[in-house]
Amino acid sequence: AKQQGRNRFNYFAPFMQEATHVRMNLVSELREAVARDQLRILYQPIIALASGAIVKAEALVRWQHPVRGLLNPAEFITVAESSGMIIGIGDWVFRQAAREAQKLQAISTPAFQVSVNKSAWQFRDDGSNYQEWLDFLQELQLNPNSIIIEVTENLLLETASNNSDRTLAFQHAHMQISLDDFGSGHCSIAFLKRFDVDYLKIDPVFVSNLIEGGDGLLICEAIIAMAHKLGIKVIAEGIETPQQLAILTAAGCDFGQGYLLSKPISGEELEKQLQKQCAP
Ligand code: C2E
Ligand code: CA
Ligand code: CA
Ligand code: CA
Repeated sequence: AKQQGRNRFNYFAPFMQEATHVRMNLVSELREAVARDQLRILYQPIIALASGAIVKAEALVRWQHPVRGLLNPAEFITVAESSGMIIGIGDWVFRQAAREAQKLQAISTPAFQVSVNKSAWQFRDDGSNYQEWLDFLQELQLNPNSIIIEVTENLLLETASNNSDRTLAFQHAHMQISLDDFGSGHCSIAFLKRFDVDYLKIDPVFVSNLIEGGDGLLICEAIIAMAHKLGIKVIAEGIETPQQLAILTAAGCDFGQGYLLSKPISGEELEKQLQKQCAP
């Protein structure tokens, strides 16, 4: 067994060194990207299913890499998190998104909301960055409920189990809270009540399984019914086909997001779309 262990070590060592090396490079490259203003935000429209109007948008970060082109978060968020850079990046995304929300509201209505993703790594135990975000909204004279914070089920569970000020920050949140990828984790109904969740986002896995009379539909209908009983609105994510859209609309789902409706687009492009939508 010892022999085998050593062989394994010899086999894996060069690979692991390489992985560490690549990661270190990525960390310093990302640091430079932030300094050189290479991060961008795209906004994916969220549509009210009853009217077809764009009423919200989700802010999604991108890295405009000088050589590799436009990179998705999958290529750099993990490194941003483990290096701690996600704090600064997350603050930047929030501020940009809030400024964009201001523009979009001026074009459409004060009810227009922009959502921002927040991962567990972005929380400080004393809730201080929550306060910083609220202060920034006040500076902009933007109503806090213009912003939706998207968190995952696992984050809520974690927050609940370590009764820190993070829990408080949540319960006293003036911004709205959306539970991302609902159904993929282990959240109970009790948590939805306790954290005063405003929106549930149905995990794309269930949306992609939508066929008349199928299990996917059953699950979506159950989520929608439960959410509505609790006073929570539902956003279906990853809508790719007209059939999925029709089924969700018929099932009473409130909002939809997905490539069928729109891919993530630039702030400017979204402003244009809203101008068209709001033209008499
Ligand atoms: P997410 O929050 O679940 O975001 C939805 C992802 O699904 C986005 O990918 C979006 O482009 C993609 N998507 C939208 N519609 C469709 C569709 O119809 N079909 C398919 N197959 N995909 C669709 P994206 O932009 O690559 O983001 C990936 C993840 O990165 C996000 O997942 C989110 O967890 C994370 N992320 C993005 N921006 C930020 C950020 O600013 N901060 C943090 N902490 N995380 C972020
Ligand atoms: Ca999200
Ligand atoms: Ca709330
Ligand atoms: Ca999601």
